[in-house]
Amino acid sequence: MGKVWFVGAGPGAPDLITVRGARLLAEAGAILYTGSLVAETVLQWAGKDCEIADSKSMDLEQVTAWLLERAQRHATVVRLQTGDPTLYGVLAELARPLDAAGIPVGIVSGVSSAMASAAAAGECLTLPEITQTVIFTRLSERTRMPEDESLTALAAHGCTLCIFLSIERIAAVVEHLIAAGWARTAPVVVVHKATWPDEELVLRGTLEDIAGRCRDAGVERQALILVSPALGARSRAAGQSSKLYDAAFPRRFRPAREAGSASDERETDAT
Ligand code: SAH
Repeated sequence: MGKVWFVGAGPGAPDLITVRGARLLAEAGAILYTGSLVAETVLQWAGKDCEIADSKSMDLEQVTAWLLERAQRHATVVRLQTGDPTLYGVLAELARPLDAAGIPVGIVSGVSSAMASAAAAGECLTLPEITQTVIFTRLSERTRMPEDESLTALAAHGCTLCIFLSIERIAAVVEHLIAAGWARTAPVVVVHKATWPDEELVLRGTLEDIAGRCRDAGVERQALILVSPALGARSRAAGQSSKLYDAAFPRRFRPAREAGSASDERETDAT
């Protein structure tokens, strides 16, 4: 009986898979990849006789059945997922039946699109004294969110937000952020197909105009939304930014609704 590996393909560029991931692709007897998101160029690391299938039109049960069946025949089977397989990848749902069947499972990290998007935009997700926390989240839609994880509640922290799976509803994302106390002038970066050769697109705007910019550029899917008081830090002189940050971002450690007006400039903190 073989082992099934959940391998992170990385965000798109074929040389952004890990060395370990590429080695497993080369060894694998069978690879099942998520064709809707994984760049096919990553499959260049697969061996010549490897069986390769796209799971785009399969449901969860069919994916499980495919993996179970291939694990009877091959020593190494790879489930290739976009970015990092532990984020928004239904890994637990897929691994459970394998666990139940006694098939060993391994996980290989990948470069998440959150990291790749920050790099593509030349931005940092953390900045000393400004923000030291990053939240990975999404808007609720078909997947139900835990009650206390609404985007408004999370955005009230004023830290960096990497928002997945939500580009189609960018207008709703903006509403949540404004309700949480972010200024309409707060910068936003949207990265479409980060690291995909010839397809990557970095859009910069503010909460006020980002939805229009996405519409104009035709960006409707496979994009990450970055919101952070650290955005644009490289173009600001060190030590001169605190007033600007205070104006554009919600005050920390205090829900926006207690701070009065839900939008725009706040008084600067005394400290
Ligand atoms: N496991 C993946 C996320 C899968 S969910 C990871 O770690 O990146 C799919 C969402 O990821 C998309 O809706 C989009 O928000 C984001 N995404 C995936 N690939 C991307 C890319 N190359 N550029 C920008 N966003 C991407």
